[in-house]
Amino acid sequence: MIEGLSPKPHVGDLTLDELRSTLAALGEPAYRADQVFGWLYKKGAVDFEAMSNLPKAFRAKLAGAFRCGPLEVFGVARAKDRTEKHLFRLADGPCIETVLIPAGDRITICVSTQVGCRRACAFCASGRNGFVRNLAPSEIVGQVLPFRAGEGADVTNIVFMGMGEPFDNFDNVARALRILNAPQGLGIAARRMTVSTAGLIPGLLRFKELDLQVNLSISLHAPTDAVRGELMPVNKKYPLEKLIAAAKDYSAGGGRKITLEYILFRGINDRVQDADGLARIAARLKAKVNLIPYSPVSGLPFERPGEAEIQAFIGRLEQIGTPVSLRSSKGRDIQAACGQLAGAYLKGNS
Ligand code: SF4
Repeated sequence: MIEGLSPKPHVGDLTLDELRSTLAALGEPAYRADQVFGWLYKKGAVDFEAMSNLPKAFRAKLAGAFRCGPLEVFGVARAKDRTEKHLFRLADGPCIETVLIPAGDRITICVSTQVGCRRACAFCASGRNGFVRNLAPSEIVGQVLPFRAGEGADVTNIVFMGMGEPFDNFDNVARALRILNAPQGLGIAARRMTVSTAGLIPGLLRFKELDLQVNLSISLHAPTDAVRGELMPVNKKYPLEKLIAAAKDYSAGGGRKITLEYILFRGINDRVQDADGLARIAARLKAKVNLIPYSPVSGLPFERPGEAEIQAFIGRLEQIGTPVSLRSSKGRDIQAACGQLAGAYLKGNS
């Protein structure tokens, strides 16, 4: 149990199947779970009293067994390009961040999966603040609900790329994916959701067994163990060749495509030989590459390459035939990169 929280589980921590069996144990028919899901995720109910078509006795039973309620919005920052960063305060005190990224007719929500992160990537504000705790499924899904509550809301994509390493909180992330995907829940198609990992091989093996066709992206960030190990301590436990073998195995079973995320750091991984190494790995995995020019974090010694270097890197990949896209820097005026706003808050309040 998380300190500061009621001992009752949050109703939003359960998948539909789990809610059905829990309610069955309380003597309720399966369709009651579907009704509760509809109220929570389609109608945006934030307490059991609002579930007006449910019998009063059943609502009382729910209130006796579960807690309910939204995440507390602690702050919102809006960028000129309409990117929004929402800071939510959890019931036991810490804050997490969620970013809304509009692009054309798509609205993508980038969710956090942990408070802090234990992976300590050298360039990341979240990693610098250490690990506090895993998020519960209700706290992951709860980051999406403010943008979906009510009719006509239009979240199209969810990416698990905010604070935390999703595979370090695998079970809760899997539950959140099921709730987001369930037609009785938020009904977001699996192919419109992407989980991003720093490269935890055991998580990759479990992810392969998940009966949801959710997209996978792997944060590569360097094509050699020497550089990747400096940037990402996880590489020491799961070095590149082992990671590539596991990723190959993942995509072989079911033809699932992988995206390689690659943050470009000036003078560290942005040379021609880096592009060549990255292209070789992408070819082995039949993966596409998503380049992300680094967003500087105050106090960290990394820099963003200049436009000419970025274009030269892309040009080299394209010349070799690697499918590559450049993630535009959304929300730079509100520090929308991973971990920065919540990191600043946690640091100032620790
Ligand atoms: S980049 Fe991701 S895995 Fe690495 S420390 Fe930050 S949140 Fe954790």
